[in-house]
Amino acid sequence: MNSKDNISFWFSQLEDDCHPRPSLREDITADIVIVGAGFTGLWTAYYLKQLKPDLNIAIVEARIAGYGASGRNGGWLMGMVEDLEGQVAHLPLEQRRLVFKEVHGLIDEVERVTQKEGIDCDLARGGAIYAAARFAEQIPWAKEYLKSRLDAGHDERDFRWLNAAETREQINVQDVYGAVFCQPIAAIQPAKLARGLANTVAKLGVRLFEQSPAMLHSNTTGASLIRTEYGSIRADICVLATEGFGFGDNTLTPYIIPLQSKIIATEPLSDTQWQSIGFQSRQTLCDFSRLQTYVQRSADGRLVFGARGVYEYGGKPFADRVLPETDSGFQLCEHLMHEFFPALRKTTVEHRWAGTFGMARKFSPHAVYDQASNLATAGGYGGEGVGASNLFGRTLAELLLGHSSIRTEMPWVYTDALSSSLKRWEPEPIRWLSYALVSKVFALEEKVYCNAHATPWKKNILSKTANAIGRLL
Ligand SMILES: Cc1cc2nc3c(=O)[nH]c(=O)nc-3n(C[C@H](O)[C@H](O)[C@H](O)COP(=O)(O)OP(=O)(O)OC[C@H]3O[C@@H](n4cnc5c(N)ncnc54)[C@H](O)[C@@H]3O)c2cc1C
Repeated sequence: MNSKDNISFWFSQLEDDCHPRPSLREDITADIVIVGAGFTGLWTAYYLKQLKPDLNIAIVEARIAGYGASGRNGGWLMGMVEDLEGQVAHLPLEQRRLVFKEVHGLIDEVERVTQKEGIDCDLARGGAIYAAARFAEQIPWAKEYLKSRLDAGHDERDFRWLNAAETREQINVQDVYGAVFCQPIAAIQPAKLARGLANTVAKLGVRLFEQSPAMLHSNTTGASLIRTEYGSIRADICVLATEGFGFGDNTLTPYIIPLQSKIIATEPLSDTQWQSIGFQSRQTLCDFSRLQTYVQRSADGRLVFGARGVYEYGGKPFADRVLPETDSGFQLCEHLMHEFFPALRKTTVEHRWAGTFGMARKFSPHAVYDQASNLATAGGYGGEGVGASNLFGRTLAELLLGHSSIRTEMPWVYTDALSSSLKRWEPEPIRWLSYALVSKVFALEEKVYCNAHATPWKKNILSKTANAIGRLL
């Protein structure tokens, strides 16, 4: 078992010593059993208890609450859902706007609950700067991104263009051409939120067993049976909330692949450094490259910089591995940080960690409740689950209790078996080979675009190939 300092910078900051709660050591029953104490599992339990306080809920967690992606991410609380615009494209404008309002509103909801429950997670509503920076090809990508948001029916107050000077006023990124400012995004300290939620649901009477990796077995009476090494839970309904970080149980593996992302945090920067690079309202930052950067200023004044997801052959989550400083993912983060902010070249990187998130084959998330098998799950957030897990946890709670709401009518809600609701990933080695090809093309594209002497035809061919691959997927 890792010490909390090895899990992530966020965990290392906690006052909580994170000593594991007792594991499951008997055979018990519950109305609902939840596998996984990340944001999805914890929000689901929280809202179930709000809707029906006497519900008997048990959670089994393989390590400790927040150990997965929830305690390791970049802390972007996004009032967004992966592929939101694509998923609502078939709806009339008025309905699309209602969906957007609900999705953006999850930030208010997280703020409301954290205030009510006394969870201090350093939430700052600074919005996000999606910068076109480093190479000029990012300008059309940024403009296209903004156009697609506005065409879909988003409000101009939520997504608007900043020219280079306006961008620099907020965040002084090197070689910036302009940016899309996205209002519905806040910065948080994710481990504080995950651990705070775990304490909250425990106080509400949810039984949370840690260090209890589970295997799911369904029995003939339609109830679910969860087995751990020393105990079991028989429950009417089982919620699989392991997302990309599942070990032991393989029910979700055909539908969700684990992608690993690496992330670093600097030493605390001085006031002068912050004055020169910006982030005064703790805005979050990324650029439009396919390296999928994500940056935030932590409440204690460090720059937290993450990039890209990597797929490993066979699709295993990181689990308990600690990676060396020389890992290419960490080096990429440092390299990009220096490109964004050359003034930080001499700044020490004090923390490096990795985590695993889940990608669904449809490249969009889902909330599934199959009443025939009494099995539910939510996930496939594609690296955008910090906020979405609140919305999806709320949705699952309503679905499980038979309540109807705007959330249970969303296009990502399914009520059939997993096999008919979700698309299967191709088997290995096809998965790994496809990923390897895509990442090679994207890396080459980045290299050519960053090379001032690259010929236009080279750029053109690469961008056409990268776009064609994107469409094929
Ligand atoms: C490095 C990184 C950066 C990210 N940055 C952002 C970001 O800035 N913004 C954003 O929106 N999203 C981000 N994400 C994605 C986001 O963190 C996830 O989408 C979200 O936390 C998923 O929450 P979850 O509860 O569904 O899964 P997890 O937090 O992964 O929780 C799953 C839990 O299940 C447990 N578990 C697994 N198997 C078993 C088993 N057999 N029995 C019992 N328990 C089990 C695990 O130990 C884990 O605690 C990032 C992810 C990573 C890895």
